[in-house]
Amino acid sequence: MDNKKMDYRVNFTENNKLLSIEITCCDKHIGEIRFKDGESKKCPECGVTHALRIQHNHFHLSRSY
Ligand SMILES: [Zn+2]
Repeated sequence: MDNKKMDYRVNFTENNKLLSIEITCCDKHIGEIRFKDGESKKCPECGVTHALRIQHNHFHLSRSY
């Protein structure tokens, strides 16, 4: 694990519904994914794939090479 900034910013609608997630990896904002099961984004710097998995009462944000 390095010390570069890694961050998930979760956006809500005005009705407090989850809307999207902005992903920062390797100190860079690499993009935004919609809050939808199976959405993912790959970091061009380190090649990590950030994936969103939604289940009935919770969701996961996971990273994998
Ligand atoms: Zn990265």
